[in-house]
Amino acid sequence: MKILSYIVLTTAFLSLPFSFAATSFAKSEEHGHSIHWSYEGEYGPEHWGDIKDDYSKCKGGESQSPVGIALTDKVKLDSICFNYYETPLKIINNGHTIQVNYGRGSTICIGNKQYELLQFHFHNPSEHKINGQSYPMEVHFVHKGEDGKLAVIGVLMEEGKSNEFIKTLWNNLTKEEGKVNTVTDVKINASQLLPKNTAYYKYDGSLTTPPCSEIVNWHVLKTPIEVSKAQIDRFASIFKKSARPIQPLHGRVVKESE
Ligand SMILES: [Zn+2]
Repeated sequence: MKILSYIVLTTAFLSLPFSFAATSFAKSEEHGHSIHWSYEGEYGPEHWGDIKDDYSKCKGGESQSPVGIALTDKVKLDSICFNYYETPLKIINNGHTIQVNYGRGSTICIGNKQYELLQFHFHNPSEHKINGQSYPMEVHFVHKGEDGKLAVIGVLMEEGKSNEFIKTLWNNLTKEEGKVNTVTDVKINASQLLPKNTAYYKYDGSLTTPPCSEIVNWHVLKTPIEVSKAQIDRFASIFKKSARPIQPLHGRVVKESE
């Protein structure tokens, strides 16, 4: 009897680390980052392209994001129409950022093209720079078109007055990674995070995280929104840094709405 319980205990003990490993692997697979990458050190942005073959665009791509926006081509651009609806709050710490997953049916239109809002998430500091200036944070609204292409709206966040919408999000965020926190009694509308003026810069680019796929129509709004220093600090207490450095334009021209 004693021997048996010894074996059971030993087996249980030995299998513990393996089952832990398996669980965390499955967890990260689920959120699309099966291989470890980070914003600093050994697995930082300058090494993303070497982590695995699928990430090769991160070092060999010629339409990468983010970019520094300075010289632009001022032209008449279609205005963006936003049709965002209220959705129950679904918020997740995916290990790289705080992301809010959006319910079906909210869309934007640009010209005759329509894209559906999938999620929005944050970066610290901003990924895009305007005339060399970086902002404390940036939010990305990720939309998908019928052709599989993404339209991402980037909104720069500057230090100013406290933001009520951010307050609601931060009240429900968690340090625990990989678990969606569904808060059914809290309804949100992403349009509350948009500035009134939605004039924008536009260029063709990529995902700013591995696999750095070059499938994104970028629209960076010219007008930032305000958040308080305490709100910026709260995010930074979970993610010290979550921004990829500026990528070369390789001849791309950024368009700016007049
Ligand atoms: Zn992003």
